[in-house]
Amino acid sequence: MRADMFTARLDGYGIDGMLVTKEQNRVYLSGFTGSAGALLITRAGYILVTDFRYTEQAGQQAQGFKVVTHGAGEFYKCVMEEAKKLGVTRLGFEAQELTVEQFTSYEAVAGGIALVATKGAVEKLRVVKDDGELEKIRKACRLTDRLFDHVLGTIRPGMSEKQLAMEMEIWMIKNGMSSSFDTIVASGVRGALPHGRASEKLMQKGELVTIDFGGFFDRYTSDMTRTVCIGKADARQKEIYDIVLASQIAGVEAARAGLTGKEVDSKARVMIESKGYGQYFGHGLGHGVGLEVHEEPRFSVTDESVIEPGMVISVEPGIYIPGWGGVRIEDLVVITAADAEVLYESPKHLIEL
Ligand code: ZN
Ligand code: ZN
Repeated sequence: MRADMFTARLDGYGIDGMLVTKEQNRVYLSGFTGSAGALLITRAGYILVTDFRYTEQAGQQAQGFKVVTHGAGEFYKCVMEEAKKLGVTRLGFEAQELTVEQFTSYEAVAGGIALVATKGAVEKLRVVKDDGELEKIRKACRLTDRLFDHVLGTIRPGMSEKQLAMEMEIWMIKNGMSSSFDTIVASGVRGALPHGRASEKLMQKGELVTIDFGGFFDRYTSDMTRTVCIGKADARQKEIYDIVLASQIAGVEAARAGLTGKEVDSKARVMIESKGYGQYFGHGLGHGVGLEVHEEPRFSVTDESVIEPGMVISVEPGIYIPGWGGVRIEDLVVITAADAEVLYESPKHLIEL
């Protein structure tokens, strides 16, 4: 089980127990989907501390874990007492997750157990997806293809960006998804904002519209971007689109096990730089996707992590020109032994509506 994979790593962090409170990590290691609870992962056993609302659910979901229900106001004390019973002397915690208040609350009842900060410890296990996880991500991506079809049938001149985003939200709810981030709909000059959330702006004929969206299905998310033209594209729009598309295709081609994130990024980036638009591509080429929409690893100018089979990563170059607009195209790929498989079927040529 997954918790066993983590116990093998305890020594590497100089700890003999790990406290896991981040929701996605808790679900990943235990299967427990409740909104409150803490895991203790040790060689002596696995404990899930939660409150009475979740005792029954935790017992059903968290196979291999002993479920302990804490009393009102005794969460921290209960966690540290259970850690002590398991013989823990150095307890790792998620430095990026605990608030200062939570940390001091654990510390106040630590009773001699040292609290040790760790960073991304469980997240490192999550970068390579198993078959069950890949199946869920594939399902989310298939639905996302259908949602893009729906977008093509819905978008029209005079409609506001927000109205389109709302139509997409409704579609997701009807089809068992929930959006995993605020949908980006950036039309015309707003396309120069890489993260331009849908606004009241009306979409006009002759404008490019960048739509970046994704949704959870069975806790795993998709993430897709397409840029379409309302009406006929002009020569400049076509030119910029083709450069981004060539870069995106080069990125998918370059995404191979054994390369570093930096090497993959550079093979896509050079396609944009060689055309003189390098300064307008200011973000990394991609990011891991799974239980969270932004996870490790990254395709970026600084990422030295080595790409492995089973990783699911986005490939999303863009060009953003202030006062003109922008283009981004994003696919998710799963790294296989031989190459990278694109998880979408939606077309990538410039669609003129
Ligand atoms: Zn995206
Ligand atoms: Zn993305």
